[in-house]
Amino acid sequence: MVEAKYFIEEIINADLESGKVKKVFTRFPPEPNGYLHIGHAKSLCINFGIKSKYKGKCNLRFDDTNPSKEDTEYVESIKRDIKWLGFKWDKLLFASDYFDVMFECAVKLIKKGLAYVSDETAEEIRQRRGTLTEPGIESPNRNRSVEENLKLFYEMRDGVYPDGSKVLRAKIDMASPNLNMRDPVIYRVLHATHHNTGDKWCIYPMYDFAHPIEDAHEGITHSICTLEFEDHRPLYDWVVRECEFPNPLPQQIEFARLNITNTIMSKRYLKKLVDEGKVLGWDDPRMPTLSGLRRRGIPPEALRDFCERIGVSKANSEVEESYLHACVRDNLNRSANRVMAVFDPLKVVLTNYDGSEELTVEDNPNAEELTYRSVPFSREIYIDRSDFALVPPPKYYRLKPDGYVRLKGAYIIHCDEAVCDDCGEVVELHCSVVPNSKSGEDSSGVKVKGVIQWVDAKTCVDVTVRKLQSLLTDVVDGVTDFNERFNENSLLEVTAKVERSLLKAKKEDRFQFMRVGYYVLDKDSKGRKLVFNEIVGLKDSFNTTK
Ligand code: ATP
Ligand code: MG
Repeated sequence: MVEAKYFIEEIINADLESGKVKKVFTRFPPEPNGYLHIGHAKSLCINFGIKSKYKGKCNLRFDDTNPSKEDTEYVESIKRDIKWLGFKWDKLLFASDYFDVMFECAVKLIKKGLAYVSDETAEEIRQRRGTLTEPGIESPNRNRSVEENLKLFYEMRDGVYPDGSKVLRAKIDMASPNLNMRDPVIYRVLHATHHNTGDKWCIYPMYDFAHPIEDAHEGITHSICTLEFEDHRPLYDWVVRECEFPNPLPQQIEFARLNITNTIMSKRYLKKLVDEGKVLGWDDPRMPTLSGLRRRGIPPEALRDFCERIGVSKANSEVEESYLHACVRDNLNRSANRVMAVFDPLKVVLTNYDGSEELTVEDNPNAEELTYRSVPFSREIYIDRSDFALVPPPKYYRLKPDGYVRLKGAYIIHCDEAVCDDCGEVVELHCSVVPNSKSGEDSSGVKVKGVIQWVDAKTCVDVTVRKLQSLLTDVVDGVTDFNERFNENSLLEVTAKVERSLLKAKKEDRFQFMRVGYYVLDKDSKGRKLVFNEIVGLKDSFNTTK
């Protein structure tokens, strides 16, 4: 028996030990009405994690029982995103393929005297439902005969009744303390075309009826869902029991959904942002969708690591976004190649250096196998303006008048002169290369504490860099409405000069721009016109030796 890491695995272990379950079978059941988001990643990690831990199975099942909002674009994106996250489903299924099974289940319930056709309107049903402290009022149609119910239900299916005029209700208990058990609606009339079944049906099952049947029909043993379905569990159990599915019956287990600070995971809201053109699309790098996170450069391994580290619990809570970023940094620190980029260029002329050379620079000191690239170096370079101080504060280790600094992977330079314009602004530095100070073979004897990045003026490439922030501003003065919290400054485009080697980068390649942060090459790049998205900043951006 494998050790349980959290309560769902404890339940599974108990089921395996008691012999109730022989093989563990889970499913991931997205509704194809939007793109997957980071909350879904958590559910994916749980369901597919259990599959691999228990050598079981996990199906991908599109919950497409609601005909109005679904789209094949979503189906394709969901498949793509799950693969990207690194998971492989066993069967690919559509809940709508089971409409016949569901219909037969409904007929079975009617025959058992456990379902009836009701003529009540949605409003009447709501009014008679009662409250938490008062029982509901029975439907006037509750005691229809089995024959009459069958006839009416077939007529519903055959299109005799308009939308909203009749429903099929389960006959359970109008006095149940659980409102979901007070004769819930299980089928409704809806004359709508379904993307899979076309116009075959004009009645559609309700989620609470359809989902347990889908699970039981597939042989799912553990149906894992989020906490808001806890109150629906008695109905889930009632449906699989009364429809007489074989053992082991699936059991629903709830866990707390993932919430992240300043992050909205409602597909409805995300769709609104897309439809209103507030973002570049579902895969905008600011979006919490998996496609967005991918375009943002978040490695799938880091996302899985994040889901693992936050764990699975039964209590709702909110995770800090910075926690995800820490997982991402951890991953990229190991996996991303280092390159040099200068955001606020200050020209440096190396007055004693003529000609040019190709330096060999390590790609990533943390890689298991070290690789190197060639970086051109010549008389004119750019450094970042913030790495030079005309009037330096104490303990300033970067470049200053008459000071030394090491150029990463190259030489130590000495600042001989800062050339200023009429306003006193530094426009150019004149420096000299310290003889015999080349990285890796330094015998100059000059000790420097600061190492800074630079790019070669002749060969560097001007690129666009997107600085990304949360789509939502912090809650200020109690304003919690998402629409009023849209962060208009969440995407800022700046330019930078980067080293030549980046011309060879491929889309989705991730880099550490040394001493600045992590960046990914965006799909909007064309030829020499490179566009990078900021993934995360470095943990300690003030560490001058990074
Ligand atoms: P939304 O409210 O964003 O539309 P949903 O729950 O309706 O999400 P589904 O497509 O029905 O989305 O979800 C598929 C699976 O993912 C369900 O099992 C659901 O419980 C799970 N899931 C959705 N959001 C989260 C979340 N924030 N954290 C964990 N699991 C989630
Ligand atoms: Mg849903």
